[in-house]
Amino acid sequence: MHFPTFDDFYQRILFLLPFAANFRSNEFDYQTPDLWQFKHPQCGGFDQSPIAIHRRKVIPLSLPPLTFGFYDELFDDLVTVKNSGHTVEFKVPSTIYGLKPYVSGGLLQDFYEAESVHFHWGSRKSKGSEHVLNGHYYDLEMHIVHRNTKYLTFDEALNYTDGVTVLAVLFKVVRHGPAFYQPGLREIFNSLLHLSNFSSSYTVEEHLTLGSMLGNLNRGNFYTYKGSLTTPPCSPVVQWHVFAEVLPIWIQDLAKFWLLFDERRRPLLNNTRPLQSQENRLIFHRQPFLPLQPEQLQGLIWV
Ligand SMILES: [Zn+2]
Repeated sequence: MHFPTFDDFYQRILFLLPFAANFRSNEFDYQTPDLWQFKHPQCGGFDQSPIAIHRRKVIPLSLPPLTFGFYDELFDDLVTVKNSGHTVEFKVPSTIYGLKPYVSGGLLQDFYEAESVHFHWGSRKSKGSEHVLNGHYYDLEMHIVHRNTKYLTFDEALNYTDGVTVLAVLFKVVRHGPAFYQPGLREIFNSLLHLSNFSSSYTVEEHLTLGSMLGNLNRGNFYTYKGSLTTPPCSPVVQWHVFAEVLPIWIQDLAKFWLLFDERRRPLLNNTRPLQSQENRLIFHRQPFLPLQPEQLQGLIWV
């Protein structure tokens, strides 16, 4: 019979400690993303996100544009932004027409209702995007998460491969230059000053639209591929749309993300999942049609 020695026992405890820390309540830790799969097997499965997207390795596709339903209509309620310990997020309210904003079109077969908006960021020393675009990490990434309206709840949608679509917007820091138009984002970035503690929340005083979170972004130019949630349970049910245009963010606004704290009072920094393998997945690039030149137009009319 083998009696475990003290060393055996000690080593086993040392081995289990990170798991125990990671499994405390329902939380996960960005310092140990390799351990997520032990509680959430899909995190170790297929079609995972984020991935690196390179314009030379994508397939140009003549797709219809995305349709942004009610994106530019005012919400019927004020937005409450919350520090969840992993990110800052807000639930998307209904618009004054009683319905939530939605997207359809592109490769989407159905209507997808906006559920929530959250962010991923780095630190003073490191970039904070999850997706890599043309070899570059960026400073901040915003995710607008939508649920297929075929499914009644977000949890139900996570069981189906067409359950979710996410719009991803990358931001690059600017230190000076002309002002830019981002009224919704301005309100959200200012709310960060009230959200330093875990579970704190702040209600924005202005009525917003979801479209105002996109500023003047070119909504017609995006990359799209099949992937997953980038946080546990990592469900591989997401049609991703990563916009090709990168929005500017003032350094003063980016720095507000670095002042937040998580559940254990640690600085909430680098809330980004490492890159995942593209495997044999295809990435499509949708670009708006180029406007016809006057001479081409004449040719069309007279020939
Ligand atoms: Zn996200």
